[in-house]
Amino acid sequence: MTSTMIGRQAVVVGAGMAGLPAARALADYFEHVVVLERDALPLDASHRAGTPQARHTHGLLGGGQRALSDLFPSFEQDLAAAGAVPLKVGLDLRLEMPGFDPFPQRDLGVTGYAMSRPLIEFTARQCLNRNANITIRENCRAQDLVMSPDDVTVSALRFVNGEGRRETLSTDLVVEASGRGNLTLGFLESIGQPPPEETVIGVDIGYATAVLAIPGEVPADWTAVMTFDTPARGGLAGIMLPLEQNRWIVTVVGRHDNKPPGDWDGFLAYARQLRTPTIYQAIKGAEQLGEIARFGFPASVCRHFDRLEEFPRGLLPLGDAICRFNPVHGQGMSVSAQEACLLHELLRRRAEETDPLDGLASAFFSEAAKLIETPWALAAIPDYAVPETEGQRPEDLEQRLAFSAALFQLAATDVSVHKLLVEVLHLLKPQSVLNDPDLVERVKGVAVRA
Ligand SMILES: Cc1cc2nc3c(=O)[nH]c(=O)nc-3n(C[C@H](O)[C@H](O)[C@H](O)COP(=O)(O)OP(=O)(O)OC[C@H]3O[C@@H](n4cnc5c(N)ncnc54)[C@H](O)[C@@H]3O)c2cc1C
Repeated sequence: MTSTMIGRQAVVVGAGMAGLPAARALADYFEHVVVLERDALPLDASHRAGTPQARHTHGLLGGGQRALSDLFPSFEQDLAAAGAVPLKVGLDLRLEMPGFDPFPQRDLGVTGYAMSRPLIEFTARQCLNRNANITIRENCRAQDLVMSPDDVTVSALRFVNGEGRRETLSTDLVVEASGRGNLTLGFLESIGQPPPEETVIGVDIGYATAVLAIPGEVPADWTAVMTFDTPARGGLAGIMLPLEQNRWIVTVVGRHDNKPPGDWDGFLAYARQLRTPTIYQAIKGAEQLGEIARFGFPASVCRHFDRLEEFPRGLLPLGDAICRFNPVHGQGMSVSAQEACLLHELLRRRAEETDPLDGLASAFFSEAAKLIETPWALAAIPDYAVPETEGQRPEDLEQRLAFSAALFQLAATDVSVHKLLVEVLHLLKPQSVLNDPDLVERVKGVAVRA
């Protein structure tokens, strides 16, 4: 072992957008990292059964792009080489929201990429494959965890391999990035420890997504569009991004009893109901590629592992297993990648300690909770504005909504505030930067005049 190695073997469950960066983070501190994935993994950027959400629009925020680039230095170049479409956030993306059709388009110096979720995942997988001490084992379904004889440490994981045989892997650390957290919750139950408390926001959202060939004639003033409706109209939304191979992906989102249908005519009619005609006009004559995909998302769920008094050593859930965000805000992959960077940083700080794994989970949970605070609030507050949303609304909801509305108004007229707002929305800066007293005064000034 080199001096920075803290264990012989770590196992990651799930080769999705939390598992891939987490495996990379672990590879600097464990001699060997094994990623177990239940699916067969495609040799290109195509779909697989274990991530049905990947058929829908997946925006990668600036904070996620930065985190993935920290772990995989060639990530952006690899994406671009594979056909991801570069976007100047603020300029190329036409944002339509009540009061702004569109929000002023400006180059804020923030560049991102638009591409399919399978391309993001395939690119990250290829980056991971360049690490000699990481093995991805596909067609392997993790089943349960094994406690060491001293009853304090997770020491092994049992799984069923591609031939249907049961195997056991001994491990110093299991990172559960299965998207669901069932392994962790099942294990806590089996050893008589309580599950984490949960905050649940019942959003009851329906997604429908079409992929289209980009026609010859396209509007010159945008490359991507996001259209949002008022909370009173259920926050109806349309999101349209370019993809690799000269395609558009178009998602329409509704809630409760107004969810979008799965046939093309119905999809078009639904797109026509959006608050502006931009998306409908663009897609009405475009050629549809493949079927329309649908997805139901009942609730955002945040599990407060940081509030647990005890947690088994050698186990760490990460990504959606900790927190599932309302997907409309495009945060899940980015937060997962940031959590992987956090894990990397914690391992770096602890590598020289006598027992680096002692207390790792509680240190991770408390830092991860801070990291989740901003994206959770950014998604929760507008969700609570929709009358049918279920959950415990904050007492100051009206003030927060009024502040947010005034902040957008100020950002429309002030480039530096616009840039700051975009940096927060892209998880490049924490929401706390918006508490700057001078900024708060200016926002309040706008609110008073409105
Ligand atoms: C409709 C929709 C749209 C979304 N849009 C966006 C967006 O625009 N931007 C964004 O950032 N996020 C978006 N998200 C969220 C994003 O998909 C997730 O946050 C992200 O994929 C989380 O990564 P994960 O690794 O935790 O889970 P996943 O990426 O779902 O990966 C879990 C992996 O674990 C594997 N697995 C599960 N159980 C086992 C087992 N027992 N053994 C072995 N392997 C197992 C699965 O096959 C899968 O590969 C969206 C989500 C939805 C539902």
